Amino acid sequence: MLSYKESYDLIYREFNNLELKIETVLLDNAQGRTLAEDVIADVNLPSFDNSAVDGLAIKFAENVREWNISAEVSAGNYSEIEGNDSVLIMTGAKVPPQFNTVIPLEDYTTNNNTAKLNDSVTLKNGINIRPKASDVSETEIVVSKNIFLTPRKIAAIAACGKPEIKVYNKLTIAILATGDELIPVSEKPTGDKIRASNNYGLTAAVNALHQKGINYSFINDDYETTKNKIMELIDSDADIILTTGGVSVGKFDYLKEIYSELGVKEVFWRANIKPGKPIYFGKLDNGQKVKLIFGLPGNPVSCMVNFDIYIKPNIIMKYGMPKQVRVRAKLLNDIKKRDAKRHYVRACFERKKNEYFVTSQISQSSGNLAGYSKSNCLIELTEDIRNPLKGEIVECILI
Ligand code: AMP
Ligand code: MG
Repeated sequence: MLSYKESYDLIYREFNNLELKIETVLLDNAQGRTLAEDVIADVNLPSFDNSAVDGLAIKFAENVREWNISAEVSAGNYSEIEGNDSVLIMTGAKVPPQFNTVIPLEDYTTNNNTAKLNDSVTLKNGINIRPKASDVSETEIVVSKNIFLTPRKIAAIAACGKPEIKVYNKLTIAILATGDELIPVSEKPTGDKIRASNNYGLTAAVNALHQKGINYSFINDDYETTKNKIMELIDSDADIILTTGGVSVGKFDYLKEIYSELGVKEVFWRANIKPGKPIYFGKLDNGQKVKLIFGLPGNPVSCMVNFDIYIKPNIIMKYGMPKQVRVRAKLLNDIKKRDAKRHYVRACFERKKNEYFVTSQISQSSGNLAGYSKSNCLIELTEDIRNPLKGEIVECILI
């Protein structure tokens, strides 16, 4: 059976090869998208020498401490100034060319039309002027292609005069659950039925990564119905299909067979991990388009952990998003691990003063969703680790 690393690398390769289309969006809608063009300054930034403070613009001269005020300049209201003694100036206002220094308001006092430097102040030549092009020069790249857009980048793009911007298309990810035991969440389960919760968790996980998750709800374990539904998803514009359930070794776990019948090439089935071992990964290539197919286990925790350790890091890689945060924390309890699998233990991480602590004393059953919902990290116990003890330092992935 493949190790986590081996199985991850196979998924990574396919994500890396995926071709992303490009679309144009309004800058207002660009947050969380990934830039598909270089953004170049069409003007110098700033475009003119301007004042960094409210104060008095002067031409610096040694030992001069008093000036006549001849005019006032505010931001956006510049007109040519006669004389070269001094002007009152506001933050951001263009500095008239005859001046080279701005004295902040608090460093002088005024009396009628004269300004006098406070006795305690030593004036320095050239202060408080933001020179033209000191941020960027015209034609310089301000935000580069492939960068993940955050509010800071968007403000810089706006300053470059781009109300619209090219970004990579979102991945369309179709999500479908399978199982005879499933009922809609709006219904109250009786007997042996359970609410189909996986779809909601996975769709939310996809959307949280700024991709387009489509919840196709669930279907029962009927071969023909399942096959028809999967055919529908294959014919849709989905880039990725996520199904849950039906990939273990039970009598009704025939998703793999259906995928194979529909031309999906199995890349791997099962990995030496816990939870989430039954994961299936396949690829459909019809010559025009590649679709990545994930058969995730039905157990709600397993499928979410599979998403967090296989799919999420690859979307992050593909779209240049900030990497998943990893911290090393001190264990607050012993953990039993006797096998050579890689374990992802659901846990709660906490920072106290400058130390990181983690406890895994929440339910570890891969069916217990309420317990899982309380966790905020996965402790990653690699293949070589056995029975880590309270006080040991372990690696945690924040989720
Ligand atoms: P399976 O992988 O099909 O054997 O499913 C494993 C278990 O996961 C089932 O016995 C169900 O209890 C549970 N399960 C399957 N699908 C879902 C779902 N969509 N939402 C919540 N639980 C599920
Ligand atoms: Mg099932």
